[in-house]
Amino acid sequence: MSPALALSGKELAAALREETTARAAALTEGGRPPRLAVVVATADESSAWYVRSIARAAAKCGIACDIRDLGPDASAAALRAELARLSEDEAVHGIILQTPLPAGAALEDLASAIAPGKDVDGANPVSLGRLAARLPAFAPATAEAVVALLEHHGIELTGRHVAVVGRSTVVGKPAALLLLDRNATVTVCHSRTPDLPAVTGRADVVVAAAGRPGLITAAHVRPGAVVIDVGTNPTPEGGLVGDVDAASVTPHAGALTPVPGGVGPVTTALLLRHVVQAAE
Ligand code: NAD
Repeated sequence: MSPALALSGKELAAALREETTARAAALTEGGRPPRLAVVVATADESSAWYVRSIARAAAKCGIACDIRDLGPDASAAALRAELARLSEDEAVHGIILQTPLPAGAALEDLASAIAPGKDVDGANPVSLGRLAARLPAFAPATAEAVVALLEHHGIELTGRHVAVVGRSTVVGKPAALLLLDRNATVTVCHSRTPDLPAVTGRADVVVAAAGRPGLITAAHVRPGAVVIDVGTNPTPEGGLVGDVDAASVTPHAGALTPVPGGVGPVTTALLLRHVVQAAE
């Protein structure tokens, strides 16, 4: 069998950025420059790296990005107040609450202070509820990126069996909802799923979103299946690896997303598209 096709996210991300840049320019011309606010309360270095990369990508698209750093000792009350203030601020169109959060502050609690119309990363439980009810809402950008990438590469979802590995509120669960919406038959696996390879090995598409480097091997993948690697796990050398053991899966799968360069760039591009959508 020939090695897996590499499902790059770069081309789709570039197309999305181009469209977003044009929409951002039109908004700015119309006197409504799009603005994203990122609320941070951590000294975590990989989080800081991620926030800087969003700010750079936003600037390239003509979107202003304010980083509101409340410091690693910020209280839940202070974070909630800042999110409520930004939700009221007419000059701000999108709000992200960056994780990790200080002890005593939970994303699920605080995200309800983000106005749903500005909730560009679908963190407010109202956004997830609306997504489940098939009402207009911003989906978490990573979950949306999984589906966008599959569609971009012409991978049929209707009637296909998709196994999602991970049930988090930010990735696994919303990805499962979006895949159901595309008429896939979805199985959601998690840390208590016994015999993971038996489940994923029956799927046409495997979405790995567990945050466990190398979790998915050839033994988890049916020959020729499509594998989407959502994992972004920092290595001690400062690199990034996915949840898929690419060396073992590549000779075996039909297609596989690279890490980096797969889901990641599409996620950032969709996040910025949500900001212009919110401003429009
Ligand atoms: P999380 O820790 O909140 O959730 C992990 C999920 O995986 C849990 O539901 C857990 O039950 C499941 N899991 C853990 N170990 C497992 C195992 N051995 N077998 C089966 N299931 C297992 O993580 P998250 O926030 O959902 O993120 C998942 C991964 O996606 C991480 O690597 C994260 O860095 C990455 N991520 C990437 C992007 C991107 O833009 N590419 C964005 C967000 C998150």
